[in-house]
Amino acid sequence: MEKVPRHFFFLNSLADKAYFDQAYQIEEGQTISQPYTVAYMTELLSITPGMKILEIGTGSGYQAAILAEMGAQVYTIERHEKLYRKALEIFSLLGLNIHCFWGDGSGGLTKYAPFDGIIVTAAAPREAEMLKDQLAVGGKLVMPVGDINSQKMVVIERLDENRFSRKEKGDFKFVPLLGKHGWK
Ligand code: SAH
Repeated sequence: MEKVPRHFFFLNSLADKAYFDQAYQIEEGQTISQPYTVAYMTELLSITPGMKILEIGTGSGYQAAILAEMGAQVYTIERHEKLYRKALEIFSLLGLNIHCFWGDGSGGLTKYAPFDGIIVTAAAPREAEMLKDQLAVGGKLVMPVGDINSQKMVVIERLDENRFSRKEKGDFKFVPLLGKHGWK
């Protein structure tokens, strides 16, 4: 986390706040996650170099940059075109090779599955089967699930072809995951 300059991912007007441990507004009414939350979710994924990770909800691009800096092969999808374009620009400035997509990622990215990890950085109403299906055996899906005001961090691990384990971690508050498998 010390290697990724968080101020790059900020609105100019808020750049002096970039090194506080808080979430802030970005464009399109979205947020850049709090560093604590980014660290917490990253740890739950147990990243090792070379792992193929899907992030749903690129937002500012900060979480994706942390994963890439740790050596993961990162695929990230964002529904707002403006945020998608801005993230592309920052990744290129920082020399990070991240596969970026623009569209509804609520059903994952079947074309590039399986993934060794899937991280959803927006609040989902439920755990979509589709995302579990896109996990490699041993892979983990980390996603906040609940209502609009509060979510539990859910960690689902694929144990083999048909079996999954499920754990619930602490309470968080994310912006909503919209789209086909999110909030309508
Ligand atoms: N990971 C981000 C935080 C993102 S905030 C960061 O590090 O800054 C959540 C993001 O999810 C928002 O940008 C929102 O537009 C996006 N989002 C919500 N629903 C989505 C969907 N169905 N597909 C892709 N992105 C989505």
